Amino acid sequence: MTTPHDTPKPSNFLRGIIERDLETGTWSQRRFAGTPGDGAHHAAGPLDPAKIRTRFPPEPNGYLHVGHAKSICLNFGLARDYGGVCHLRFDDTNPEKEEQEYVDAIIEAVHWLGFDWQAHGVDHLYYASNYFGFMVRAAEALIGAGLAYVDEQSADEMRANRGDFTTPGTDSPFRDRTPAENLERFREMQSGRMPDGAAVLRAKIDMASPNINLRDPALYRIKHATHHNTGDTWCVYPMYAYAHPIEDALENITHSICTLEFEDQRPWYDWLLDKLADLGLLQRPAPRQHEFGRLNLTYVITSKRKLKALVDEGIVDGWDDPRMPTLFGMRRRGYTPESIRAMADGTGASKTNIWLEYSVLEGCLRDDLEGKAPRAMAVIDPLPLKLTNWADVFGAGHIEACHAPAHPQRPELGQRSFGLGPALWIERDDFAEVPAKGFFRLFPGNKVRLKYGLVVECTGCEKDAAGNVTAVLATVVPDTRSGTPGADAVKVKGTITWIGQHDAVPATIQLYDRLFTEPQPDAGGRDFREALNPHSKRVVQGYVEPALAGVPADQRYQFERHGYFVTDRKLHRPDAPVFNRITTLKDSWGK
Ligand code: ATP
Ligand code: MG
Repeated sequence: MTTPHDTPKPSNFLRGIIERDLETGTWSQRRFAGTPGDGAHHAAGPLDPAKIRTRFPPEPNGYLHVGHAKSICLNFGLARDYGGVCHLRFDDTNPEKEEQEYVDAIIEAVHWLGFDWQAHGVDHLYYASNYFGFMVRAAEALIGAGLAYVDEQSADEMRANRGDFTTPGTDSPFRDRTPAENLERFREMQSGRMPDGAAVLRAKIDMASPNINLRDPALYRIKHATHHNTGDTWCVYPMYAYAHPIEDALENITHSICTLEFEDQRPWYDWLLDKLADLGLLQRPAPRQHEFGRLNLTYVITSKRKLKALVDEGIVDGWDDPRMPTLFGMRRRGYTPESIRAMADGTGASKTNIWLEYSVLEGCLRDDLEGKAPRAMAVIDPLPLKLTNWADVFGAGHIEACHAPAHPQRPELGQRSFGLGPALWIERDDFAEVPAKGFFRLFPGNKVRLKYGLVVECTGCEKDAAGNVTAVLATVVPDTRSGTPGADAVKVKGTITWIGQHDAVPATIQLYDRLFTEPQPDAGGRDFREALNPHSKRVVQGYVEPALAGVPADQRYQFERHGYFVTDRKLHRPDAPVFNRITTLKDSWGK
């Protein structure tokens, strides 16, 4: 079973379909032998303990992205909610593009999102390539029944004879071969003696069908290629549209959920499984395909080809660059699995492709981190603050011990401690020599509170020869320690964060922003490179408070006033900290 989590889900049409199926017992008599297999295999097994079966079927030819997360949450979530099981299946029928590296990465990413595929003592992790033997057997059964033939037209002839939306197709001259002749030619295709492209095996349906997918779709093509799982066993490989329904059927999938572009394939999906059940190869009732709308996020591209271009052209630093919408990129950026699941669940499932505002995803992230992330002070653009009367007030060398809750609503997380001394780091933009209207922080003559510390009054600044401010000068206002009687006697309009120079921890801080400046970077066929944000990454040297010395990677914090940050899982070292900005505290996407 998948792990239980999260809040109640909004309704969607897939839930309606599943609930009706459960009510009418559509799937209740199906048997499941514990492993994938043909009709006879399952018939010998017990009733399927899973009320429904769904699957997430990635092709292992790239890294998973936020769009896949939608599909993962939908498929695993529906199975979890309805007493079912969701399989992880590698749709690895295409030998050329698939690699073990992607298989491993996909497993890791789905686990990270919070799902697994163990149920009823079985590990439901499958590879479509393990079904190649059955797929050939099914193809030969179709040939035997006169439902498939080997076509030796050239690719150009085949394309021309397929017709188009307004013109019916033309029958291939090879269409009337006998089953015996077709079987002989299909075996020849498998023998390795025919070159790539010399022949294809096609279903014999209807070249005049208004649905082009039913105009004798291809089942098998010749491809002399080594496969990551089956090696050189095969030189014929099944077409996706032939393989996918069979994969579903062998695994006893009940609800085969896919995106809208497969809607026109559904008659072919049904035709194929119906014929294979007629031929006694597959159990009934057959799985059913249901299509839902893709999830697109504004300011994000999810095409694998375009994401690959970002990596290959060095626009980002690899697939797990914190700006990438891959699950590995988002993980490194500091996104939590909970926030991604909340976003996916919150969007339900509909019959149209949707564009979700990126700010919705960030909202889910802030909601999750607000209650979880310990607070800390950080100075991102440091400027020294010198408290010139420190020795007079406290005595030279004195350090005031300061404390603050790790989280304002979670006392169980304890206290953080840091020291206030005569030399501090503050944010450069917390000082203005000449304040703009409404600026309440440091300017000559103004008083501000150093958060968790005391009130100081700005007296001026130091500059270098070029006129740049190199330090701010201020004096301590005595008896204003936060939390002491009389601390509020001196009223101030501004409070600033700071870090003592004596206990500051130097840190590299990677400030990330949106990768694209346009909400739909590749809309209307535009080159997404034209919409790149030149300021999507800025790396600065700052300081964090001493409580953060030596922390491990992958820890999330709220830096007060700045936003949420995470120790980078790749670059961070306890003795050389690297923080990524996950997001700012407030939404800036709408502006
Ligand atoms: P591409 O077409 O970019 O190569 P793909 O999305 O087709 O990628 P698959 O590995 O085949 O890649 O996808 C696995 C599953 O994820 C499919 O069922 C697919 O429909 C689903 N999926 C992919 N992108 C989205 C999305 N944006 N929204 C919802 N589901 C998606
Ligand atoms: Mg695909």
